[in-house]
Amino acid sequence: MLHFIDVILPIPVENLFTYVITEAESDFIKPGMRVAVPFGKTKVYTAIVKRIHNTPPEIYEAKQIQQILDEYPIVTEAQLRLWDWMANYYLCTVGDVMRASLPNAFILESETLISKNKDKVINDTDLRDDEFLIYEALQHQSSLRIQDIVDIVDRKQVFPIIKRLLEKEAIVVEEEVFEKYKPKLVKYVKLQNQHTTQEGLQKLLEELSRAPKQRDVVMSLFQLSAKTKKAIKVSELVEASGASASIIKSLIDKSVLEEYFIQTDRIEYNGEASEASKVLNLEQTEALSQIKTTFETHQVTLLHGVTSSGKTEVYVKLIEEVLKTGKQVLYLLPEIALTTQLVNRLQIYFGEQVAVFHSKYSAHERVEVWNNVLYNSSKAQVVLGARSSIFLPFNALGLIIVDEEHEQSFKQFDPAPRYHARDTAVVLAHIHGSKTLLGSATPSLESYFNVQQGKYGLVEITKRYNNVLMPDIELIDVKDKQKRKLMTGHFSDRMIQVMAETLEEGHQIILFQNRRGFSPIVECKTCGHAPECPNCDVSLTYHSYRNQLRCHYCGYNMAMPLKCQACGDTSLDTKGFGTEQIEEEVKVLFPKHKTGRMDLDTTRGKYGYEKIITAFEQQEMDILVGTQMLTKGLDFRNVALVGIMNADNLLNFPDFRAHERSYQLLSQVSGRAGRTEKQGKVLIQTYNPFHNILQQVSTNNYQAMYKEQMDDRYNFKYPPVYRLIRVTLKHKDFNRVNMASIWLGKAFRQVFGDYVLGPVDPPVARIRNQFHKNILIKIPSKQSLGGTKKAIVKINSSFMNVKDFRSVRLILNVDAY
Ligand code: ADP
Ligand code: ZN
Repeated sequence: MLHFIDVILPIPVENLFTYVITEAESDFIKPGMRVAVPFGKTKVYTAIVKRIHNTPPEIYEAKQIQQILDEYPIVTEAQLRLWDWMANYYLCTVGDVMRASLPNAFILESETLISKNKDKVINDTDLRDDEFLIYEALQHQSSLRIQDIVDIVDRKQVFPIIKRLLEKEAIVVEEEVFEKYKPKLVKYVKLQNQHTTQEGLQKLLEELSRAPKQRDVVMSLFQLSAKTKKAIKVSELVEASGASASIIKSLIDKSVLEEYFIQTDRIEYNGEASEASKVLNLEQTEALSQIKTTFETHQVTLLHGVTSSGKTEVYVKLIEEVLKTGKQVLYLLPEIALTTQLVNRLQIYFGEQVAVFHSKYSAHERVEVWNNVLYNSSKAQVVLGARSSIFLPFNALGLIIVDEEHEQSFKQFDPAPRYHARDTAVVLAHIHGSKTLLGSATPSLESYFNVQQGKYGLVEITKRYNNVLMPDIELIDVKDKQKRKLMTGHFSDRMIQVMAETLEEGHQIILFQNRRGFSPIVECKTCGHAPECPNCDVSLTYHSYRNQLRCHYCGYNMAMPLKCQACGDTSLDTKGFGTEQIEEEVKVLFPKHKTGRMDLDTTRGKYGYEKIITAFEQQEMDILVGTQMLTKGLDFRNVALVGIMNADNLLNFPDFRAHERSYQLLSQVSGRAGRTEKQGKVLIQTYNPFHNILQQVSTNNYQAMYKEQMDDRYNFKYPPVYRLIRVTLKHKDFNRVNMASIWLGKAFRQVFGDYVLGPVDPPVARIRNQFHKNILIKIPSKQSLGGTKKAIVKINSSFMNVKDFRSVRLILNVDAY
């Protein structure tokens, strides 16, 4: 009897491929193992075994595999099921999903380039002969192709050797220019050595007798050190002594104190769990028990808890219970919310059981987490990760938590699979027979809709922890202020006044300026010409820190011109305002206070993001100006005022979710204010103080927002009432993409009638010299999703058969919002 395997290739082909294997191989091979297989005339790929059977393929003669690469499956059966679901639901190939799932180092193929791992010292004696040959060759050549390696070792089947070299970390697979995950530097203080003896301290206190504040700091530090053996953070000292950071700074300058840094590395956390989890208050206890009750009847529960209601502590209790049963927990959150703050908080409770998975991890780190998860190692009981961690090989998954479930960044836009991690998580949990908990202070309409439909359970926490009041939100009418000449730059008199009061009280301020669609562009005051990107249909934006004009879509940049390129006049004006401009203005308004900025530009460098957060946390800055990045789950104790510079461009953004998103964003930013005792203050500057969304934000009225937005979604046939599939066509020739999109629109209309919108130009119709057209297909809830997709796929294949259209790229995006 002949034996065959069906394998998944990491390329976008529709079908699985069948290879023939020997009897012995068939005893050994299991689904989920990797095999090296020949493909086409010359290529070799790493494929994943899907099925083992005895039926030869009908159309072609099965080739033999080259080699089995694993001793055990590296992909679980549950993953294979999830891959099928994703390919099917998101209209892509299983190969697309495979490529997105596996760490790069797992997918060797003939195109793979390998090079020497410069970060690792390898002893020749640790290498086998064939390994040594390759390693040796890499001393002289920066990289090698698979074919080169075949020649060097004079053998066809080289993947196993490469795999061993990868495992020994002697080599790396090309394309792995990942940034290392950013460790956090925490600042600590101690007394300088000469003051630590009994006499030394006595003498010091005498010296400081005329500076009582400084003396208090020294006393506090001494008491703290006596109490705990651990190093003392600057922030702890600030808290214990009640002194400001500047007093501590002056003691450092006087050489009384010494500051030093310790790097808290997130992946190699060696600490023990050092604290028991917190005792829940009444609301949290109630919420926890309700969650468990809803889980008896629901697969998914939504925890709707206002900002700072203590949702995280509720998650912690649930996690504890799941861990007790020996199962794993996946804790998903948006990339940018994956801060050290949260990681540290969980590590305090769970010690090294916490594993972090991040797209910025190096290949080796990814493989390490992968294996820890696969073997249910004690080091990966709680996996904390961004969207791609749904691809990890869980084998005993007990619970998935999706925090900040409303966040758009859970959706992958490019490349395929264009999945939504929250929705995929629900399916993943289902495959494992476990539950999903979604959490948010501002749930997405679709999740809340699922609650209303009875699909999801709902649990609410309406009070902040410790009964801290919700921030007091005040709307400022910019139009009125302008009329009465009460604006200084972009600041209203009211904003300036409250800022001054806040600073006076020693509290910190966050100023929020939305970046999207609102970077400053340059315009000629004389002729009105605005420089545009040569490759994309957008204006270039001005970046003063490099005095450059840049394209946000393709990265094109040029030096800021001295005069208008159209009329030659020198009166160029930077219109609009971004974070940079706000920062400049603040510095003029409050020259004595320290201002910082957090946006893509300032966080780009190494540790940029962490450094700013840490500095702000430790109160080295009084005012932080920032973009969206500020909204995500950060817990700053001392922030008493949040100022929103301009709410209007959020509201006016051309997207059917603009209002929902504005509500979420504004509520989340507001939530950063007053997270401890004192009630926080939020000021929102706007031209439309009577806009419903702003009213709803200022009264914290989620229900009203939900109801009003849902009415719109019903009326205009948008999600979550209708499903949405977006078809994008791209080509460098405008006429061709235009014709193709008209053809396709017509074909869709024949099947779906009025539920087809377009073709239309997207807001930016040309990107990187490719013209884009969009067609939207709306699917009523009663219409079969499967059937609709089949019809779409069928139309697409006839489209591809039109000769003129073959070169047009077609992109399908399911739930494209
Ligand atoms: P959320 O996730 O809902 O925004 P957090 O979980 O961050 O809220 O909680 C807000 C703050 O309240 C945190 O600083 C947290 O440490 C504190 N907190 C929450 N619950 C408790 C508790 N049961 N005991 C002590 N502190 C708590
Ligand atoms: Zn461009």
